[in-house]
Amino acid sequence: MAQAHFVVVGGGTAGWISAFIIQDSIRRKGLDARVSVVESSKIPTVGVGEATTAAFHVFLRHFGIDIFDFFRKTEASYKLGIRHEDWRRKGYTYYGPIDDPHQVIAPPPGAPSDYLNVYAVSAGHKVQDMHLFGPLLERKKAPWALKEDGSLIALGPFLPAYHFDQALVGKYLKAKSQGVTIVDNVLAGVERDGATGDVTALKFEDGERLEADFFIDATGFGKKLIVKELGAPWISYARELPVNRALPFWIEHEPGAPLPNYTRAWAQEAGWMWQIPTQSRFGCGYVYSDEFRTPDEAHAEVERVLGRKIEVRGDIRFQIGRLEKAWINNVVAVGLSSSFLEPLESTSIHGTIVQMMMFAGQYLRAPNQMRQSLRDDYNRRVGRQVDDFRTFVNTHYLTERDDTPFWREVRENRIHPETKERLARWKQQMPRREHFPDYLFGLPHVETQLHYPVLDGLGLLDPATAKAEMARDPKLRKFARETHDSLVKEYKQAATKALDHRAFLDHVNAMR
Ligand SMILES: Cc1cc2nc3c(=O)[nH]c(=O)nc-3n(C[C@H](O)[C@H](O)[C@H](O)COP(=O)(O)OP(=O)(O)OC[C@H]3O[C@@H](n4cnc5c(N)ncnc54)[C@H](O)[C@@H]3O)c2cc1C
Repeated sequence: MAQAHFVVVGGGTAGWISAFIIQDSIRRKGLDARVSVVESSKIPTVGVGEATTAAFHVFLRHFGIDIFDFFRKTEASYKLGIRHEDWRRKGYTYYGPIDDPHQVIAPPPGAPSDYLNVYAVSAGHKVQDMHLFGPLLERKKAPWALKEDGSLIALGPFLPAYHFDQALVGKYLKAKSQGVTIVDNVLAGVERDGATGDVTALKFEDGERLEADFFIDATGFGKKLIVKELGAPWISYARELPVNRALPFWIEHEPGAPLPNYTRAWAQEAGWMWQIPTQSRFGCGYVYSDEFRTPDEAHAEVERVLGRKIEVRGDIRFQIGRLEKAWINNVVAVGLSSSFLEPLESTSIHGTIVQMMMFAGQYLRAPNQMRQSLRDDYNRRVGRQVDDFRTFVNTHYLTERDDTPFWREVRENRIHPETKERLARWKQQMPRREHFPDYLFGLPHVETQLHYPVLDGLGLLDPATAKAEMARDPKLRKFARETHDSLVKEYKQAATKALDHRAFLDHVNAMR
């Protein structure tokens, strides 16, 4: 049989992550197959998308990429969590650190999951305080210290995330992926098999064509294969996630100012503003609902709250939701062509990594062996994954704010039934890991470690419920109290030794 040909259409972050993962999996599985990437130098990438989750670290580590080299080549900085400002109410800030303290302490036999979180809530402590990343976030430090001999030592085993320039990351991954054929052309249409409906070749603007057996649609919001050619239906989340437009801009760093190690998610009158520090600038934007703001009003609002003029870099409209089926025939969609929701928890690049790792690990075969049962199974899992993202992001809107028409509308009418159901359950019973069944083969997902700081920060957890659960096992409560107190102390102390975030990056850059 002839060598199989996999083609990734699109050379944005999603396209290159996919090519990287598929190429690697073909090699590992010993498949007789090759990979091409089709991208167009005439069609720019989306140009935003700079904050990741720890899944990106898993991805880099899986492929043996040197993190320090990555820092040097992509303007990357650390993201140890999210600073949520003015969400619960104006003037109230909470952090969402992404490390999980349960990971480092062996639990007593029979202890339920999340007992440390439950203890913290029962005792009226902020959940964020027993995370190593909590004090590091507050002090803008890196999870590294310097030894006396000048070498770096990691503080803790926790997985970080990154902020970066997505265009540089695309180039970086492109340079690292070996043996991939690159085609620079504009897709104009496809040829399909009359009997199966499978795509058999891509047709380009200049009359050229490219035959292949399997296609990844990573063409961004254009959804060129999966929707334009295969007519995939779309499930909208616009009702429960009403922000649908973004006004991106950049802010230069103030010389000598400390470099944050968090994404700033700052609630505004009709949405929220992101500020993402890369080494050279802040990538910023106002994501808002155009039911409540015109672009001119959004622009004026940003300049008013920042007290300065900004240069707007675009007007991005987006559809919030996901494909009903991300895999149809011999086409799988990823990245923006598959789903999108506001970037509040950086779920987009995360989703691409997890989906492609799952696809490559569990489903990838010779193209003629990838049957409908595999497609159905993949589609069910990916659909559930993105629905979970929706519900988690929607949870952030369970706030006390009622100071503008946007916040009143969201509070009153835009909370999804699943968000309400989860909250009602967590009033009766504290969130536990078993409330999040693992249907992604152990790959990272939004589970209790991300929910606790957010639910706690929004004041949505009931200390009485936590107290009642802790009271059932006084031995466990004693263990949790001692562990909690020692972690808080240890991490506060570790933060005093940690390198300043900017100093860490200067150190890494000087190691070239
Ligand atoms: C406002 C905003 C903020 C965001 N913030 C975050 C964030 O903080 N964190 C996060 O994880 N994600 C974020 N995202 C999502 C993130 O931008 C995307 O997940 C990521 O950049 C991947 O995009 P993509 O590769 O799917 O699409 P794109 O970057 O748009 O790439 C599409 C590719 O397809 C090619 N292409 C398109 N049409 C054709 C054609 N006809 N022929 C040939 N080639 C074609 C283009 O040349 C390009 O290479 C954000 C998105 C938006 C809109």
